[in-house]
Amino acid sequence: MKRRDFLKKAGLGAAAVAATAVNAPAVLAQKNYRWKMVTTWPPKLPVLQEGCERLAQRVKEMTDGRLQIQVFAGGELVPPLGGFEAVSQGTIECASGASYYWAGKEPATQWFAAVPFGMNAQGMAAWFHGGDGLKLWEETYAPFNLIPRPGGSTGVQMGGWFNKKINSIDDYKGLKMRIPGLGGKVVAKAGGTVVLLPGGEIFTSLERGVIDATEWVGPYHDLRMGFYQAAKYYYYPGWHEPGTYLEYFFNKKAYESLPKDLQHILDAACMESEAWVLSQFDANNGSSLQTLINKHKVEVIKFPDQVLNDLRKLAEEVREEEAAKTPIAKKVNESFKKFQSVVGTWGTVSELAYYNTIQPKYPLKG
Ligand code: CA
Repeated sequence: MKRRDFLKKAGLGAAAVAATAVNAPAVLAQKNYRWKMVTTWPPKLPVLQEGCERLAQRVKEMTDGRLQIQVFAGGELVPPLGGFEAVSQGTIECASGASYYWAGKEPATQWFAAVPFGMNAQGMAAWFHGGDGLKLWEETYAPFNLIPRPGGSTGVQMGGWFNKKINSIDDYKGLKMRIPGLGGKVVAKAGGTVVLLPGGEIFTSLERGVIDATEWVGPYHDLRMGFYQAAKYYYYPGWHEPGTYLEYFFNKKAYESLPKDLQHILDAACMESEAWVLSQFDANNGSSLQTLINKHKVEVIKFPDQVLNDLRKLAEEVREEEAAKTPIAKKVNESFKKFQSVVGTWGTVSELAYYNTIQPKYPLKG
């Protein structure tokens, strides 16, 4: 009896034969992967740490458990800012943070997180996925054996909490402010004293007058920190962090050891997380701002236009100084500037013009 006849008689059709032949080797080749992710965030931090845990859950669901990632908050496995080194060396497979934390390793990393007076969340996403932003990010991380993926944005941050009014650029002289990154360099250029403090020490320092001002994130996270109890004025906009992007990054060898389908799922899960993170900030910042204004009677003040103009000039100087430090920083800065001028032109006649038509409907006083 021929094999085909035997199968027919045994009740197995041609489709079943084909399916068996195609699927059997794939099933045999399947391997499960167990990874660790370390983050720079405190445990249970809404949106940020929460987003990492959500990513791990989604990857587990989408891969039917073939790739499982155990997430550790900052300090649980390695120090909060130890992720870059650990993943670079391959002792940990992946991490999450914001790329400006790694400015000491390579100044170019700062452009992928936040540039003062740079692009907002929409512009950054366009640069990463519609321009050469992600390609340049990959090039920047390659010498460290890392593969980066955008992890979502906080949106425009707030300018910060101040106990002194900022009426002119001279009011920054002698101002003691907690403000990291390129924004901190701008404040220092304006004559301020930049103080670096871990998250847990900011409130007490502000309350005791050790610092005169601090920035953090936006209303959702700032409300939780209770800054309204320690500072009089809440300034906007966050010129120093106009669309801060978070990141996921993977050890190159670990990422490349995954079968292609798992690599694609991981990439897709990162993009899903990107959308989820920004939506959480947008959904919660507005209601938190209303709580700060109506319940806690916070005085929300816009930086005077002249102050913003003066800060912008200083920010350009800081940006060019940083860009001059390495060839890749120069290359990234040129791409960023060019892209910003393109999306900015469109933004002027779309977002800006539109917002101006509805602005009066959103009062800043309760
Ligand atoms: Ca911030």
